[in-house]
Amino acid sequence: AKGRWDSIRGAGTRDEHPRTIFDEILARRIPSDKVYEDDLCYAFRDINPVAPTHILLIPKQRDGLIGLGAATAEHEAILGHLMVTAAAIAKKEGLNDFRLVTNSGPGACQSVSHLHLHILGGRQLSWPPG
Ligand code: 5GP
Repeated sequence: AKGRWDSIRGAGTRDEHPRTIFDEILARRIPSDKVYEDDLCYAFRDINPVAPTHILLIPKQRDGLIGLGAATAEHEAILGHLMVTAAAIAKKEGLNDFRLVTNSGPGACQSVSHLHLHILGGRQLSWPPG
């Protein structure tokens, strides 16, 4: 089942893309600093934070969402859940102001092919991003 991990884990899902380090984190084979978890998603602190608060929020079942660029109508529910959950996490972290980022594709510096939202805050953020 090498490289087919997502598709066999998620009943009914079709995801033929190679698994990523985030699957290892979800399986607890790689430790992570958990911030929040529910049936659908998992949040943990970024190993290389670029702000005082830097949290990654990911769907537990990637379901083809290698990045936001792969989103289709069938992902609406999970994407909505991630957005609402990101807001709740920011509030729980005490962030009045925060930024939600998802990098999609190498030209946007995406490095892990499993959709993830970056929740950034705790300092004055600049605009435009680099
Ligand atoms: P991307 O560059 O794809 O938008 O974001 C990937 C993020 O995952 C990076 O900010 C990187 O620091 C983070 N990351 C990569 N590997 C690990 C890991 O093993 N543990 C944690 N906590 N974060 C990771």
